[in-house]
Amino acid sequence: MNLLIIRLIIFAVLFLVGLKLYRMYRQWKLDHEGSPADSHGEGKQMVRCAWCQVHVPESEALRDKGEWFCSSAHRDRYLQERQSDESE
Ligand SMILES: [Zn+2]
Repeated sequence: MNLLIIRLIIFAVLFLVGLKLYRMYRQWKLDHEGSPADSHGEGKQMVRCAWCQVHVPESEALRDKGEWFCSSAHRDRYLQERQSDESE
């Protein structure tokens, strides 16, 4: 009977410790990654579109030939312009 109570206490302590560690880990992860619901664009790396010079967040930008673009249309125009420059 005594042994059963000791086992129950050990299980309860292990469960509480595990729960605490899990919460600490989750909090650490949130602190480390930053919540995606945070104010839009804050703390993100900004890059400049090579065509229109507008700054856009890196996650929304396109990268091609070492340059950043705000949209595929600007990427295409920029690359077309550069190709025609090189051929003439
Ligand atoms: Zn652009």
